[in-house]
Amino acid sequence: ANLYRIEGWGAPYFLINSAGHVAVRPLGSSDGSDELDITELVDALRRRNLQLPIVLRFPEIVQHRMQQLQECFDTAISKYNYQRHFQGVFPVKCNHDRYLLEDIVKFGQDCKFGLEAGSKPELLIAISKLKGCDDALLICNGYKDRVYIQSVLLARQLGVNAIVVLEKMDELDMVIEASRTLDVKPLIGIRAKLSVKHGGHWGETSGDKGKFGLTVNEIVRVVYTLREEHMLDCLQLLHFHIGSQIPSISIIKEAMREASHTYCELALMGAPMQYIDVGGGLGIDYDGSKGQSTASTNYSMQNYANDVLAALIDACVLKGVAQPIVISESGRALASHHSVLIFDVLSTSHHSKGSSLTNLEVLAKNAPSCVKPIDSKGSSALDAENSCSGLTAGDQGAGEYLLSTFYQVLNTVDHTNFQEAYNDAKQFKLEAWSLFKLGCLSLEKRAEADALYEAICHKVVEYFRGCDLPDELQELNNSLAPVYHINLSVFRSAPDSWAIRQVFPIMPLQRLNEMSTIQASLADLTCDSDGKFDQFVGANGDIVSVLPVHELQKGEVYYMGLFLGGVYQEIMGSAHNLFGRTNVIHVRAKPINNQGKVNNAQNNRGGYTFERVIKGQTMEEVMRTVQHVGEDMMEELRREAEEAVSSGRLSIEEAQTLLVNYKCSLGS
Ligand code: PLP
Repeated sequence: ANLYRIEGWGAPYFLINSAGHVAVRPLGSSDGSDELDITELVDALRRRNLQLPIVLRFPEIVQHRMQQLQECFDTAISKYNYQRHFQGVFPVKCNHDRYLLEDIVKFGQDCKFGLEAGSKPELLIAISKLKGCDDALLICNGYKDRVYIQSVLLARQLGVNAIVVLEKMDELDMVIEASRTLDVKPLIGIRAKLSVKHGGHWGETSGDKGKFGLTVNEIVRVVYTLREEHMLDCLQLLHFHIGSQIPSISIIKEAMREASHTYCELALMGAPMQYIDVGGGLGIDYDGSKGQSTASTNYSMQNYANDVLAALIDACVLKGVAQPIVISESGRALASHHSVLIFDVLSTSHHSKGSSLTNLEVLAKNAPSCVKPIDSKGSSALDAENSCSGLTAGDQGAGEYLLSTFYQVLNTVDHTNFQEAYNDAKQFKLEAWSLFKLGCLSLEKRAEADALYEAICHKVVEYFRGCDLPDELQELNNSLAPVYHINLSVFRSAPDSWAIRQVFPIMPLQRLNEMSTIQASLADLTCDSDGKFDQFVGANGDIVSVLPVHELQKGEVYYMGLFLGGVYQEIMGSAHNLFGRTNVIHVRAKPINNQGKVNNAQNNRGGYTFERVIKGQTMEEVMRTVQHVGEDMMEELRREAEEAVSSGRLSIEEAQTLLVNYKCSLGS
């Protein structure tokens, strides 16, 4: 279990159960009354004809995270005797799933939880979801044109509590003009460009060279302009966002100090300030290292809430300004855990012992006149009389000599000379390639040279088994790792892992009480060499390039899961190689303690309902996005097939098989 550090990144939602399967506790319970075995869920979905890859969503995890955030701020408020309340908004950009957003608004009714929009389409979604929620806030960020700003002001007339946040100076004139034209008083916020910078993946948003927000100079000009326009009473909010996944609490403290003083100064300049919006950035622990890397955080949610309030209290006391309502725009921290991407392994490059031959053995079996079995005494395995007919003169000279020396290295490598043997093997392999390019080595002999290289490398690594490998040999070890071919597209389902090398926890979902005997890398279904996972959470907290897995058993569907991918991934995924959106299933727990034993509850665990099934895109649907119309393609193929039948190239039955297969593929 420790191999994957699941306690570090998964608690309290994910754990390994006594069956050796990954289980989920959507309500975060400590007694397991809500526990569901993910393998059982996937089996149950497959019996309902829903194919992998699948995204399982657990909305209750989001609810639990929202409650936790609220509780942390409530605790800090009473600890410091803070005078105002905390009110969260969820950034729509983090996950646009309609049902998830509706759930968030519903879950958040008691604590006035709202939404943040970062673009015009997101604004339209947020307005429709927040209609009738008087107390929840709609924070309107992002690029704005006249229509955007008018929509915000009109939404206020509908009763939506929308605040337009100025990110660029030219938005100010548009807001003033729209307010006059529509005769609606806006609530205005300012996004400040803070000088604090953070160094994680998403740090580019921060610092005075960052893309977003107003400089100090611009902020002061906004105040002057609003004052001149007699609209300073509209300015009530200060916002900042210095980037997502902030790894270190010291950065948060520093940003809060700068923002708190800016807030107070705005109040002192006469704006009736009410809100401070501290943006997103609250991070999660992707590698379970508890702050040892930028994929992790060195603070808890409670530390975060405490430090946000502490900085505000300090500044407000010093400047004699009333404390603001605190808003946060946390997305990653609320929704990452709630979805699990599940896929299976389709095939492997691994030759399991006894079931399959090594490359060298295959050559020895199939080309007996070219290759001699390895001589255990270490003598040369080839001799000149055994050469194949049809080989070039050079092949019989330089090639034979090279291969015979290569065999000697294989047969004599041991713990005293493995480094030298490895150096020789590298050199001989390159020489074999050169001879091949000069036409002096047959294809079979070149394959033999490659197989010899591989066999030597395996022996070299074997001598080091269990010890720390030097860097060069570590790379060798990784390059020898078998590849497990997995049923998904990285570009579609986990684009950040490719684009910015973000680490996500990935692990098998079953057989976790069995030793894993193989270290594999994972390659996806696309024909792109970047379509792979080669960064995994290692047992010691470091990032490793191969993942411990089990040898595949005949007929087994080997499930694996990618965790913490509930934000940004699905929407940023691309249709590279025309892989469409995957099936998404919303699962709700039925804890046994609350509702008695339910039908599908097994082994004294909770039951579940598949609350919603959102079917993925078919091949035809994805093709349509690039103007290929399935019906037209079918019709063209039918005509071709008809012609082939007329000319006797296909029987009617063969033509039918072709058409039926084509149609099935389009619809899958
Ligand atoms: N607010 C703004 C303005 C953002 O740009 C983002 C995303 O980067 C967020 C909130 C959400 O941030 P996070 O996912 O780190 O909570």
